[in-house]
Formats: sequence, C-alpha cells, structure tokens
Amino acid sequence: MNGNSRGGSGGTRVLVLNSGSSSVKYQLLEMAGGAGDRLASGIVERIGEVPEIPDHSAALKQVADELAAQGLGLDSPELAAVGHRVVHGGTRFTEPTLITDEVVAAIERLVPLAPLHNPANITGIKVARALRPDLPQVAVFDTAFHATIPDYAARYAIDTATADAHGVRRYGFHGTSHAYVSRATARLLGKEPAEVNTIVLHLGNGASASAVEGGVCVDTSMGLTPLEGLVMGTRSGDLDPAVIFHLSRVGGMTTDEIDTLLNKRSGLLGLCGDNDMREIGRRMDEGDTAAQLAFDIYIHRLRKYVGAYTAVLGRVDAIAFTAGVGENSAAVRQAALRGLGSLGIEVDAVRNAVRGSSARLISAPGGRVAVAVVPTDEELEIATEAYALVST
Ligand code: ADP
Repeated sequence: MNGNSRGGSGGTRVLVLNSGSSSVKYQLLEMAGGAGDRLASGIVERIGEVPEIPDHSAALKQVADELAAQGLGLDSPELAAVGHRVVHGGTRFTEPTLITDEVVAAIERLVPLAPLHNPANITGIKVARALRPDLPQVAVFDTAFHATIPDYAARYAIDTATADAHGVRRYGFHGTSHAYVSRATARLLGKEPAEVNTIVLHLGNGASASAVEGGVCVDTSMGLTPLEGLVMGTRSGDLDPAVIFHLSRVGGMTTDEIDTLLNKRSGLLGLCGDNDMREIGRRMDEGDTAAQLAFDIYIHRLRKYVGAYTAVLGRVDAIAFTAGVGENSAAVRQAALRGLGSLGIEVDAVRNAVRGSSARLISAPGGRVAVAVVPTDEELEIATEAYALVST
C-alpha cells in the first residue's frame, strides 16, 4: 500500500459523487502523492424517468457496476473514501465533514434552505453508505468556502431578528470551484494564495463572482440561494425584491410561479429564448437584436461585479474566468473587461483568442492585474479535501 496514506482503509483513491435530482455524476480519482489522476468518470441520467433507473439506489448500483466493469469496483481496498458534493451547509458546516448519522440529520435540517438540491445529495449519501458502510464518507459543501465572508457582507439589511429566525443571510455557492480556481490562479502566478487578491468569475449555466483576499473569500454574488447576483442561463440574478410583490399583487402569480419564473425562465433564456452562450453568439453574428440585448445585459451585470469587487478588495492582483462560459467564450471575457485600463485591467486580444484546456494568462504583458482563464475542477477539489480528511 502507498506510503502516503496513513489512516482509514489504507487506500489512496476517492470516489466523488455529485447526486442531483435526476442524475448522479461520478469520478474516481487516484490521490497518491497528490496526483489527482482520473481513473474513471461517468454520469447516470434520467433517474425516475426510465424503468431501468427508478431511483437513486438503482443509479448508484449502476455507478458501482460501471466501476466494477473497469476493475475498479466499490469493494476495492484501494478506495479510501467517498466524497459527496453537498450544496447547502448552512452556518454549521464550514469544513469538509466526515459523515455520521448525526451529520446526515443536520444536512436534512438544512433542506428548507436548498429544497431543490440537498434532498438528492442526502439520498446519494444514504445509498453510498448502505453500499459500503465501512468506508469513510465525506461531505464537501458548496457553501463552505464562503463561510469567511464578514457579517457586513453576509447580512442583508433587514430586521435582524426576522433574518436570524429564518436563517436569512448570504451563504454563497460554487464554493469548491471558487476555492479551487483562486488557488490555481495563485499557482499560475507562481505565488501563494495568501499573497494574491483575486476576483473569480465562475460563469457556467449557473454563475457567480467572488472576491478572494489572500486566499480567503470576503464576498460572493450568490446569496441565501443561488438566485442572486449575475445574470445566468435561466436565472435572473439581482433584481428589485419588490418585483416579486408586484408580480404577486398585480400579476396575480403564485409564489411557486414566481419561483419558477426567476429560476427557470429568466436570465439569458428569458431574455432571448436561448441559454447557451454559443447559440447566442451565433445569433448575434446574424444581427439578432434580442440575443445582442441579452448578451449586453449579461455583460453589464458582470462588469458591475468586477467594479464592486475591485472596491471591496482595494488591490486586485488577478481576475480569473472559469466554467463553461468563462473558459470558452473569448467574447464574454473581452466585453466584460473592455475599457478598464485605468484599473490596470487589460485583456490581450491575441492571447484571449487562443483556445486551450489548461490555466493561462490572457492579460496584456505588463498589465497590473493578471487576467486568467483557469479551468475549474470541482471533483478534484472534493477528492482533495475528502482525502486530506481521511488520510491524516
Ligand atoms: P453548469 O453550470 O451546468 O456546470 P458549465 O460550467 O458546464 O455549466 O457551463 C455550461 C455553459 O457553458 C453552456 O450553457 C454554454 O452557455 C457555455 N459554453 C460551453 N461551451 C461554450 C463555448 N465553446 N463557447 C461559449 N459558451 C460555451
């Protein structure tokens, strides 16, 4: 057995599970020597929609079968832990946590804060524990990296007693991505995270920005739920909260209808009928004005957050773009930072146009702020955190 592993089963591999409401994504990573090599990965989709996969139990059974077919079965002694992505950790879970019955119960109590996500995460945990009761299982929370956000940025300016009674505050999400990307950005610059102030722009279908000061998160754009902040694929991001009263009182919509509107029928999709930035780009090239306006609204919001977090951090060393849009759309990166030379932010058009799969700089040589494209790897981050917990 490898000398790097000191505890638990003695194994050096981590199975990462991301259990969503209708899919389970998995990756098996080899962590010996901090390698993080991907041994297997896959996704089981359409849970509850097809007869072969009626529930999460069947989905995880399929994951186990797929791994076994590659000689990497769940019964392997090389497995050190299962790392579970859990969306909401509330104020209690600010670190990766070894899962016990009590921890599962505590995650269940957080369901009201994440009704769409935590139940599926919990089901995944329960099924995986039943399959391998002897194996350490670790919960890694999407909210955890944001636990350091100071109260003046985390609290909303509403009555404190009401807020506290209902757990209303900014929690933030995509934390594993913001953690991973902020550290990878420091590495790209040849520095320690503690030396670097970074604005991370995680632009996927969901999107969020964070301000990371010396490796510590000090603000983020998502809030009580993943609805706040940037314009997203199907979510509105920031709006006047009174829009909701107006739609209820004047529009006659129910709370659930407004919830669906803002989460599923807004953002880029609501604005122009497409939520894929590639399609929006194609339509803009053809002179489509609705697609152009959706793009402009998306960019305007992004620029506001870059400005806000520049002020929050005081000194910005790096701006990192990540996730599907951030890693692939040169047009978004260019438009988001256009004309910010007076802040020391300058994107080099040639560097920006180069496609690639590794972390790279796209700022103009000599620019005060490093602008980077940094592919995110949430599974690797979960595996790293889970392995660190069980191997010490
Ligand atoms: P999720 O939030 O679902 O994890 P991703 O980070 O995978 O999302 O991002 C998905 C989004 O990335 C797509 O909806 C699309 O808008 C965008 N995207 C993917 N590839 C490209 C590309 N080549 N150019 C522009 N946008 C892209």
